[in-house]
Amino acid sequence: FPTLSEADPELFATIDAEAKRQEQHIELIASENYASPAVMQAQGTVLTNKYAEGLPGRRYYGGCEFVDQSEDLARERAKQLFGAKFANVQPHSGAQANAAVFLALLQPGDKFLGFSLAHGGHLTHGSPVNFSGKLYQPIAYELNAETGEIDYDALEEAARREKPKMILGGFSAYSRHVDWARMRRLADEIGAWFMVDMAHVAGLVATGAYPSPLPHAHVVTTTTHKTLRGPRGGLILSAEDNEDLHKKLNSAVFPGQQGGPLMHVIAAKAVAFGEALKPEFAEYQQQVLKNAKAMAEVMIERGYKVVSGGTDDHLFLVDMIGREVTGKDAEETLGQAHITLNKNAVPNDPRSPFVTSGLRIGSPAGTTRGFKEAEMAQIAGWICDILDALQAGDAQTTVDQVRGQVAELCARFPVYG
Ligand code: PLP
Repeated sequence: FPTLSEADPELFATIDAEAKRQEQHIELIASENYASPAVMQAQGTVLTNKYAEGLPGRRYYGGCEFVDQSEDLARERAKQLFGAKFANVQPHSGAQANAAVFLALLQPGDKFLGFSLAHGGHLTHGSPVNFSGKLYQPIAYELNAETGEIDYDALEEAARREKPKMILGGFSAYSRHVDWARMRRLADEIGAWFMVDMAHVAGLVATGAYPSPLPHAHVVTTTTHKTLRGPRGGLILSAEDNEDLHKKLNSAVFPGQQGGPLMHVIAAKAVAFGEALKPEFAEYQQQVLKNAKAMAEVMIERGYKVVSGGTDDHLFLVDMIGREVTGKDAEETLGQAHITLNKNAVPNDPRSPFVTSGLRIGSPAGTTRGFKEAEMAQIAGWICDILDALQAGDAQTTVDQVRGQVAELCARFPVYG
């Protein structure tokens, strides 16, 4: 067989360009990271050729003896990493892991309580454009606009009034610890399931850097590619000793949701879970926390409002309500300086979700390439320089200057070398 660059130079050029972008730009999207070469190597193997519907030892296809071993490694490592009794490593993505849990625990039309998308939840937590909002009946809980933290009193009131069948914890943009124990007590009180989607903080949770939802939730879902730094994919876990629940979850993934599992991705998940079990991964997660704090502190010193006043995890939100700059413009202009992040709605945002008054800033990818507090503080300073210049009416000179500094910094901290 010819190599990829020989077989398909046109496609190869797009990958080459993306590789250069990843090396030369500073990545602050809170949900992104750089997977290790070993993780990527596992994904590029012959395991992509194999059909393996079913579970290890109980497949609908022959020739599964070796992929069974790969999947068992992934399942056992996931259980060890998170202290779980059950793991299903087959969901193709975080959204599909969530869809499988809904399918296992709810009937179409059932009520559930999820975190509002506009306040930090994910699409799959009840957005009207998503299966979760179309097939089920979502009730949303929100942030307290003054504290910027989850409004637990209002959440409890809504749960007691509406009696949802499930309470869904977890988030895509929230910088504080969630009180999992309080949410489980509430679920028990009203006889609901308690599910947690820990996609954003899974890597932190794996190493004790963020409170684990496993001891509290009936079911926990996650992606494997954010702070957990594995391949793109999903994972379902449970610490409950409940065979019936485990069976329901397994059959909701297959045959409920999916056909053949992506065995090459499952192998890469096993590699990532193995990496996450090593002591260096815990050091990495501690640095992720320090780096997010270092950036938030600079932004606050420079006069920018940070939702909830700081961060206890890998991300924070900058609230620019009332300023002469939108999240959309800020994202675009910072992009011109090769600083990649995303606009994000903030509590009580008067602007549309396509424009927004906020930015979401995350530390996982920068930390992987070796940035420490000093580099993160410098980057936060550049962000403030550009935001200040944007509000003053002309950011071009600042953007050009910062782009040069970004290039130097990235050259000093290569991702893959
Ligand atoms: N859950 C949360 C909390 C997320 O933030 C995301 C993605 O950003 C997902 C689920 C969906 O994951 P995926 O994009 O793999 O479907």
